[in-house]
Amino acid sequence: MQFKFKLYIQIILTILVGIEVHAKSIEKPKSIILFIGDGMGVSQVTAAIMNNVGSNFMRFTNGGLVLTSSSSSWITDSAASATAWSTGVKTYNKAIGVDDDKNDLKLLVDYASEKGMSTGLIATSSITHATPAAFVASVDLRKKEFEIALQMSESEIDLIIGGGLKFFLPKVDKGERRDGRNLLNEMKSKNFTVVYDMEDLMSLDREKTEKVIALLSYKAFNKRENPSLKLADMTKVAIEILDKNEKGFFLMVEGSQIDWEAHDNDYKEMLFQLEDFNEALGVALDYAETKKELLILVTADHETGGLTLLQGRDKSREFNEKWSTHGHSGSSVPLLAAGAGSELFGGVMEIDELGRRIISLIKNR
Ligand SMILES: [Zn+2]
Repeated sequence: MQFKFKLYIQIILTILVGIEVHAKSIEKPKSIILFIGDGMGVSQVTAAIMNNVGSNFMRFTNGGLVLTSSSSSWITDSAASATAWSTGVKTYNKAIGVDDDKNDLKLLVDYASEKGMSTGLIATSSITHATPAAFVASVDLRKKEFEIALQMSESEIDLIIGGGLKFFLPKVDKGERRDGRNLLNEMKSKNFTVVYDMEDLMSLDREKTEKVIALLSYKAFNKRENPSLKLADMTKVAIEILDKNEKGFFLMVEGSQIDWEAHDNDYKEMLFQLEDFNEALGVALDYAETKKELLILVTADHETGGLTLLQGRDKSREFNEKWSTHGHSGSSVPLLAAGAGSELFGGVMEIDELGRRIISLIKNR
């Protein structure tokens, strides 16, 4: 009897020690950067790597596949996908931060700020566009961008970099708001530094700047017209401003226009957008090598264009790209992870499960 009792105790101790060792082997991240390549399926990533504009994708050590369907359709849109990451809940296409019954959901930026983390959003579209919007706003339709701008200006967000100036200014100040509110003046009074061009963004004193909104174009960025609008530079400034917080930060960086070029079935322009995205990945990965407590995730909201890479004319070294749609497809998208806690992001999962995994890292700290 006594022998059996000892054996039980020994087994229990072994299990507990095992759990402890396992828990210790996965380092929890202090900060998280979530990169979204809008419309970036497996073929888009493959095309970037093979055309020598995607080398940083090869630096990720963990990952899996994400199934992207929404609650209303097997083919999702950016709004439903972004809501799934931000809340851990699947919702209908076009919904921003609300559930199927249009009830407001708790958003990722709220979870993060409750824990004292700093938060930031970067996009190459208007910052009120679906993907960034779902992290800070709750509206029943994604097109309500004036309302999204208002909620964004009143949210807990610390850093905003993107386009979409027109949604923040009233008509008298050359914007398009009809309620007469100048949201940028309102944000200034809440300690925000307001920036209108890349030069001023790059010369910000990162030690002294706590909150910043940089609206660098009237609508979405036009990178061809303004090549200084580099996602990599924006990512670098953002990390240096946000990383002053001892409690860590959450930053979302979106390459918004990979999707738009894929909608146009424009392979060359899509690669141009992927190159910009890849350089931003490089900045974060380099930073993670010096700061071990940083987790970097890369994924997409859906694939766009139904891109297939077929045998090219030069059999040894090129693809013949074929598009099957001008819309989104239902192909699963890649999930790549590097840095602290990246082991927690392996396997095949639904998109809302990915959201819940990110939120649980923020909640359980
Ligand atoms: Zn799209």
